[in-house]
Order: sequence, then structure tokens, then C-alpha cells
Amino acid sequence: MTATATRVLVLNSGSSSVKYQLIDMNDGTRLAVGLVERIGEQTSRLAHTPLAAGGDKRETEGAIADHDAALKAVATELAADGLGLDSPQLAAIGHRVVHGGLKFTEPTVIDDAVLKEIERLVPVAPLHNPANLTGIRTAQAMRPDLPQVAVFDTAFHATMPEYAARYAIDVETADAHRIRRYGFHGTSHAYVSRKTAALLGKDPSEVNVIVLHLGNGASASAVAGGRCVDTSMGLTPLEGLVMGTRSGDIDPAVTFHLKRVAGMSTDEIDVLLNKKSGLIGLCGDNDMREIRRRIDEGDERARLAFDIYIHRLKKYIGAYSAVLGRVDAVAFTAGVGENAAPVREAAVAGLEEMGMAVDASLNAVRSDEPRLISPEYARVAVAVVPTDEELEIAQQTYALVNA
Ligand code: AMP
Repeated sequence: MTATATRVLVLNSGSSSVKYQLIDMNDGTRLAVGLVERIGEQTSRLAHTPLAAGGDKRETEGAIADHDAALKAVATELAADGLGLDSPQLAAIGHRVVHGGLKFTEPTVIDDAVLKEIERLVPVAPLHNPANLTGIRTAQAMRPDLPQVAVFDTAFHATMPEYAARYAIDVETADAHRIRRYGFHGTSHAYVSRKTAALLGKDPSEVNVIVLHLGNGASASAVAGGRCVDTSMGLTPLEGLVMGTRSGDIDPAVTFHLKRVAGMSTDEIDVLLNKKSGLIGLCGDNDMREIRRRIDEGDERARLAFDIYIHRLKKYIGAYSAVLGRVDAVAFTAGVGENAAPVREAAVAGLEEMGMAVDASLNAVRSDEPRLISPEYARVAVAVVPTDEELEIAQQTYALVNA
């Protein structure tokens, strides 16, 4: 790495998509952002916005066969703006990796041994880790000389005490199959809990925060003095809150019932609980905007879906208040948490005895900045703190390659 290398390319490789951002670490400026979707189909689409050049979004459609072709197309777009992957200003590539298991609790420079270990974790993250691996291998082939860093979704949760991380099942069986609670959305929970402390003018070590990451996937975490002590997702991202398409917490016997009584296969149950449950299963929509619109029109199914979503959220706020003992702040983040004022209002309604309240006019403000929405008298700060997983990945990557 040269002294002038201050840029980090962040890659988030999904099974049929690649999201990317090129960030200048001098000041966190986004130089370019983009997304390749529907990789492997005839109708692949690349949307690239060259922010540094002040240019408009450029969109191209047409078959992109695989991740290799996708990254090459991204490199071509970046090069067109003088930001090519061969630039000496590029310090590293930071990869989002979903599952780091027990081994990876910190951002890690990728070598062959690290790749092998990520591969070994595929059985516990069959949907995510293979795509992450493909992205890493493709990027390595393009810039073999450049440090490539893996930043794990599970890492922030590695500080959970054993009694929070273990399921109450037979220990030998659990250990033989690495069954335990790992948690996900870790980069977001880390970033948002730190930002929330800053909003309060405190060091992260001084505050206890409940982070509610409410996107299409959703998770809650209890963060005590900057360390995660519990989180709602478990072995996989299926556990916990009601999500866009996932059920969240459910009696495991429901799966036996679906198999024995409804005659469904394991794969069918997997699809049911991960893709056809949550808000979409309850009311046919997983977009909170649409659900609110239907509620305003008097739609009962949308109302019930919303109420179930809020009820679960409240249960986690209560549980994590008990886990933390003292709560300094509740922070809402991600698509729903940052934008849906009715969700924030309903989740905190009735919690005055716990020191939590939302001020209606502050809650109605729309902004990209971290902000408080609780009234001055409230003992617990309620905040909206926009998440920035890409910046967090870039910062962790850059810090590691400069260490
Ligand atoms: P994420 O996974 O963080 O990108 O969040 C995506 C979800 O955020 C969508 O499915 C919507 O439910 C929700 N969302 C995005 N914008 C809004 C908005 N303006 N109002 C309410 N919900 C929103």
C-alpha cells in the first residue's frame, strides 16, 4: 500500500447481486456507489452512480453471467470515471461476510486459510457464505496484490456471554454441529450503538443501548458499555423479530407439525419461514409504507400484521431492558426504523413507566442525521440513528490494513 492509498472498495456479494461503494477514507466521501442485480439471468442490471464526478446514475441491462463478469463490469464503470481497480489510491477491498462462526471475531485479512474457514462455515450460512466467497475470489483474481479484508456480520456479537449464546439443548449435540446463537447485522449494531453514544455526548463504554435494526431483515441487540450482551437473531437470521418475510421467534414444534401433519418437506418449511412469513405472510405486503397505507384505508389484515410486528418489538425492548438493568438509549435504525414514524411511536407507546417516550413532533421530523425523538423529561433517550454498514466495513478494513 502506498502512502497515497486512502480509498477502500466495499463489496457486499449476495447470491445474485453485488452491492459496492468506493469510499475515500480521508473524510468518508463516497466516490461511487452501485448495484449489480439478477446475476446469471438474461435481464441483469447494473446501476452505477459516479458521485465523485458529480455524474448521474448510469444503468445498463443485459445478461451478466456470473460474479466474475459482474465485477469486471463494475471495474469498467469505475475506470470510466478514473476510479479503476488498478488505481494506486486503492488501499484495500473490504468484503461483507455474513457468517464468521466462533473463529472470526475481528475484521480479518483474507488468505487461503481464512478462505477455507469461511468455506467450512457454509453449512451454517448456506444462503450467504457461498456468495461472499465468490465475491472474494473474483476480487482477488482481479487485484491479487491488494489486501482483501473480511468483515463479519457475526463478529460484534461474539462478546455475548455463554448463557445468552447457548440454546438450552443437549450440549454434545449442539457442539458437534456448532449450533448456538451467533447473531447478524453486527456491523450495523456496532456502528449504531457507537453513534448513539456520540449523540448523547458519551463514550460507548459509558452507555447501555438497545439497538433496533428494522429493515426487511430485522434484529435487536442489547449493548452494554459498547459490548453486545444479547441479540435477537440466532444460528441463522430467522430468529427474533417479525421481519419482512421471516417469521422470527416461533415454537420449534411448529416445524414438526408442518412436516408430520401438513406433509411439508424440510425445504418447503425453510421457504415458508424465511420467504413467506413475517409481514408478507401475515398480510401480503412486506413494505411498511404499503402496510401503513392499507391501515389508513381500514384494512384489517394490514392492521393485525402491524400489531403483531409491534408486539414482538415491545417484548424485545422489555427483555433487553431487563438484561441491561439500566437503559440509556433505544436507537431505531435501517429502512423501517429510520423512516417509519408510526412504528417508532407504537413500539414505545405505554413504556413511560420504563422511562421511555416519544415526542410526536420530533418523531415526525425527517432527516439523514442521528437525532433524539424523546421528550426532555424522559429518562431514556429514544433516537433515530441512520445506519451505514458500508462505511463501517470500510473503516474496519482501512484500520486493519494501516495497523
Ligand atoms: P432495509 O432492509 O434497511 O433496506 O429496509 C427496507 C424496508 O424499509 C422496506 O421493505 C420498507 O418496509 C421500509 N421502508 C423504506 N422506506 C420507508 C418509508 N419511507 N416509510 C416506511 N418504511 C420504509
